[in-house]
Amino acid sequence: MHILGIETSCDETAAAVVAADGTILSNVVFSQLDEHTPYGGVVPEIAARAHLDHIEAVVKAALDQSGIGWDRIDAVAATTGPGLIGGVIVGATVAKALAMVQDKPFVAVNHLEGHALTCRLTDDVAFPYLLLLVSGGHSQILIVGGVGRYKRLGSTIDDAVGEAFDKTAKMLGLGFPGGPAVEQAAKSGDPTRFDLPRPLMGRPGADFSFSGLKTAVRNTVERLPDPITDQDLADVAASFQAAVADVLADRMKNAIAEFRAAHPEGDTLVIAGGVAANQAIRARLSTLTDKLNMRTVAPPLKLCTDNGAMIAWAGLERFRLGKSDGFDAVCRPRWPLDTMEPA
Ligand code: ATP
Ligand code: MG
Ligand code: FE
Repeated sequence: MHILGIETSCDETAAAVVAADGTILSNVVFSQLDEHTPYGGVVPEIAARAHLDHIEAVVKAALDQSGIGWDRIDAVAATTGPGLIGGVIVGATVAKALAMVQDKPFVAVNHLEGHALTCRLTDDVAFPYLLLLVSGGHSQILIVGGVGRYKRLGSTIDDAVGEAFDKTAKMLGLGFPGGPAVEQAAKSGDPTRFDLPRPLMGRPGADFSFSGLKTAVRNTVERLPDPITDQDLADVAASFQAAVADVLADRMKNAIAEFRAAHPEGDTLVIAGGVAANQAIRARLSTLTDKLNMRTVAPPLKLCTDNGAMIAWAGLERFRLGKSDGFDAVCRPRWPLDTMEPA
């Protein structure tokens, strides 16, 4: 079984062909960096137009590189939300048109389910597992009971983790997107130099908050000599990243207890979404799960941030359970995982 997957929910125009045994036959990602860099963030209207400009070439490249023809593709999947709606409509419409012309089923994919199930494409992960989903727009802890089966244990009450990384990068003049740049800068920094807040740490529950941390970073940067020195910059980045890791580990500790109470056999924590690419955060959570006799699984770096393979795979997981969608499937700007129907 082979699925073509299309992703256009943010600023990556992406397409991939994936097989049921987990082989990624092609995975083409066009990042619209040049389009958005002048504005220091993703501009929705520009993103939608850029998807329109690039989608045809990206899909063609994914099909060409896969080495298989339409005769061996079983269905076409696309992100139908959540995300920037103009972009979502571009990808979903192209996918529906291709499916219609090639006489293939269409599978509507929740972008967050794409992040959530990527671990099953690359690793041997069985349901149920505990998921820390940390991306540019979302920060949630969920129990993944199956395809379409999500129970939310906690979520951010303000900013997403990726957003906090991006804003910190902006305050440090590190450009966009900020996560990788902050991680890089933190490597030569002292994580104990600035005593930044750890919001909600030590409290019961598994919710997060990052807006106070963001404000503290701003105040810290404003008090430093301008222009900022390389060492000050590295120390702020390292102190910020340490605060985030502390908060995530603290919240996960509570979530693991709740997960274990419900599923004593569950032994896997999965980190997914763009922030899962962060090695310091991965290492911190691995240390936590090692102590608790669990394992931490995270996708390979290039499958953490948005890509077509994760959408093809989530589509495949639905399709092999007998699910597909009509060409009237709607596109949604919001689509929380825990409101999905079990597949
Ligand atoms: P969502 O999935 O919530 O709709 P999105 O698709 O825009 O949001 P992703 O592509 O999953 O988000 O992730 C992008 C985010 O991940 C950005 O905020 C980026 O800064 C962050 N990120 C990427 N790499 C790293 C890293 N190494 N360390 C920390 N953050 C990172
Ligand atoms: Mg992006
Ligand atoms: Fe994403």
